[in-house]
Amino acid sequence: MAGTFIDRTDPSFDDLGRREVINLRCKCGREVQIAPYQLIGQHGIRKDTKVWSLRDRFRCTKCKRRPLENFWVAKWQD
Ligand SMILES: [Zn+2]
Repeated sequence: MAGTFIDRTDPSFDDLGRREVINLRCKCGREVQIAPYQLIGQHGIRKDTKVWSLRDRFRCTKCKRRPLENFWVAKWQD
């Protein structure tokens, strides 16, 4: 997916727009795309949780490893 990188220093979940998604890629190759609202209320994530803190919290469901290899926020592409 050719997304546009959002250049913000440290946004919280509340700062993300409706059309922005969080992308996670693990070393094993598993790639996940998640809308911010799907994460709020899970894993202890709240609206004021910093998006980059997810990098340390998230564990790959396939290989159970962390940290993730890549982590970025992009505009949702239809
Ligand atoms: Zn993995």
